[in-house]
Amino acid sequence: MAPNQLQPPRGTHDLIGEDFARHQHVIDTARRIARLYGFAEWATPIFEDTRVFSRTLGDTSDVVTKEMYTFEDRGGESVTLRPEGTAGVCRAFVSNGLTQGNLPRKVFYAGPMFRYERPQKGRQRQFHQIGIEVLGAAEPLADAEVIACGWHIQRELGIEEGTVLEVNTLGDAPSRDAYRAALVAYFSAHREALSAESQVRLEKNPMRILDSKEAQDRALVADAPTIFAQLTDEARVFFETVCAHLERLGVPYRVNPRIVRGLDYYSHTAFEFVTERLGAQGTVMAGGRYNGLVEAMGGPPTPSVGWAAGIERVAMLLEAVGGAPAAPRPVAVIPVGDAAEAAALDVLQALRSAGVVAEIAYKGNLKRRMERANKISARYAVILGDAELAEGRVQLRDLDSGTQESVLAAALPARFV
Ligand code: ATP
Ligand code: MG
Repeated sequence: MAPNQLQPPRGTHDLIGEDFARHQHVIDTARRIARLYGFAEWATPIFEDTRVFSRTLGDTSDVVTKEMYTFEDRGGESVTLRPEGTAGVCRAFVSNGLTQGNLPRKVFYAGPMFRYERPQKGRQRQFHQIGIEVLGAAEPLADAEVIACGWHIQRELGIEEGTVLEVNTLGDAPSRDAYRAALVAYFSAHREALSAESQVRLEKNPMRILDSKEAQDRALVADAPTIFAQLTDEARVFFETVCAHLERLGVPYRVNPRIVRGLDYYSHTAFEFVTERLGAQGTVMAGGRYNGLVEAMGGPPTPSVGWAAGIERVAMLLEAVGGAPAAPRPVAVIPVGDAAEAAALDVLQALRSAGVVAEIAYKGNLKRRMERANKISARYAVILGDAELAEGRVQLRDLDSGTQESVLAAALPARFV
């Protein structure tokens, strides 16, 4: 490497070739399936007023305390590169005056997210997410449809065998208060055995301990009480209804009482699609119900549910099952002679107007241009010679079989569509 050659920033990566193809295939597929469920795509800014995240993600979350890219812009405003998509969508929902009427709003988004994390496999500082949100629906059917849509996208990508859907309930406010008390009692009795970080969580946000990745915490968490004993009848029925809908929709799942969201605006459904194939970075898609978030953004109470998936993690699973479908192979247009060189432009335009991928090598004799056609994996070559062109004809060569025939130039585009 030359000493003054620049590298991409740590934790970022370039998307080129197959990497880009997989990435784009994930987005295209998600966009198409989300549309089938009635989601409309939104694009919100990549940076927001820092309060959009500090208010909604809470002061104790890892994202806010350790991971945000926050800086003052030249005007002295504190702005943050978005670490996730939901807060910005809720901010847009409120600031565009969409909180009344025409509810629920069903939103799909895709784009880059930024977190200052230790880079490793499946964990970057700039990564990308797809996500959906249903804003303004309190019914368990919304939760089930949101989950079903996420599962449908994975099935369409052919990666559903590699993930398991785990669902849980965080209950309603009374269930959660009772559960928090039960957790504090349990973990306080084992305080010494907790990691330093979880001892802090015990004071601030005990439910986050369940989410800890520290080995010493995991052992305690395994025996911690679950929320099920604390659920109100209403919360229990809500969860049972979500599960019944999932069964009816044919979405396989298992209940995992360890799935939590540490933030107060989360309630009822929490779920993750997890995989064993990506080491510690096992969560591919994560979501849940957040009935208090729009309110935290200054809007009216708006029960909502959604998920986000890391595109890089989905793309790694996609790679394991063969990657993205191959791009269409081009037609190489190869002029031989001066008149042919000009006529090649007409042929190129006619092919492209008919929707056929067509390329021309910018220089070289027949041999050189055929070599180039092979390099770009062209499926056909259209060879234009001066004499034949005078009769309005060209040679069409099938580069896989090697057979060649003379065809009318005017009839060429129809051969490929
Ligand atoms: P993790 O437990 O892996 O840190 P998280 O709980 O921080 O994930 P969420 O905030 O729920 O993740 O984001 C949803 C999804 O976005 C994750 O399940 C994952 O697929 C992806 N994701 C999150 N952070 C990163 C990252 N730094 N690099 C790549 N993908 C990420
Ligand atoms: Mg994280």
